[in-house]
Amino acid sequence: MFWGCSPGSSREDLRVESLGSVPIREGTSAPLNLEVREGESIAVQLRGNADEIFFIRGMSGPGGVWVSDEYGAHVLESTRRVLDRYGPLRTSRNPVVPTLGHHLSVFPNGDVPLPPGRYSFVIGAADAVGRSIDTRACVRVSRRSPSVRGRVDLTVHLSGALGWTAENVESSVLPAVFEDVREIYRAANIEIGEPTYVDLAAGYQRLENIEGPGDYREMLAHARRGLNVFVIESFVGGTTSELRGISDGVPGGAWLFEESDPDCSEGTASGSGVVVALNAHRPNEDGFRERTARTVAHELAHWLGLFHTSEGGVLEDPLEDTPSGPEAMRNLLYPDIDGGIELTAGQARILRQHPAIIAID
Ligand SMILES: [Zn+2]
Repeated sequence: MFWGCSPGSSREDLRVESLGSVPIREGTSAPLNLEVREGESIAVQLRGNADEIFFIRGMSGPGGVWVSDEYGAHVLESTRRVLDRYGPLRTSRNPVVPTLGHHLSVFPNGDVPLPPGRYSFVIGAADAVGRSIDTRACVRVSRRSPSVRGRVDLTVHLSGALGWTAENVESSVLPAVFEDVREIYRAANIEIGEPTYVDLAAGYQRLENIEGPGDYREMLAHARRGLNVFVIESFVGGTTSELRGISDGVPGGAWLFEESDPDCSEGTASGSGVVVALNAHRPNEDGFRERTARTVAHELAHWLGLFHTSEGGVLEDPLEDTPSGPEAMRNLLYPDIDGGIELTAGQARILRQHPAIIAID
């Protein structure tokens, strides 16, 4: 175990700790410990086999339990029914939705700051019971002032959907779509850079399997530092064909570590980003630009750590100023496509807290 230094922004003190390769036996690791000082936040990044789901199974410290893999007594049966097998992680004080192959947990990911002291956690792998696997774990501890502005780079990966490639994209509607997205984030004090358009190899226009290894994960492996949006034509098959977009994890696993931390930076192309399916936004009808921009901004907000205003009508977003009822429709995190683009101060703070966002003056 060592402490390294990362060249973060001048507004942020960073330290990075590699926990190395952590063995997972019968689905869980031995307990790991962390010391947190006043005003600090933590990002724990896990990496491993692309067909395993890794996550922090339990995290406790000053102030009690931050992540649990069992439902607390306060979670109603009706809420449990609308959540999947990772529901307990989702209803924890520090909610997350895990994904395949890598994982990022950001603490805090809510209104309550982390009290200083000693924290203890274990790493789990969902389907590893009866097998022995390893995950590489890195911890990034940062201290930054909470009211800063942020900036982040954006890469747009083009699959050739609707015939748009890096060469002809300027004559398409996509630059206007991303201008709208940047405007939505400016309102949250986040400056998203001009998009860099890159072409993906052919074959990703239509994606079939988003739940296991395959095209989807292979495509996401092209992610670069910062925000990544993958533009496809459609999701096909089963329940996914209606999908307009998806975020790979909430929050998504960013490319967090610098080359000066070789133990953590090696192979950390995040393999994570958001996907938007153009056909689901009715390309030949009025409002295509606005609908697409709203979906991209919405999925990026998930990737940066925000949840829906309400899940299945039963689980309200725990942030204090997130609207509910009819007012929620104007919010960017309203689950339906006809929702608005507003973000509250509390939501904007969570977005800026994601470690992919670089703090600026
Ligand atoms: Zn959503």
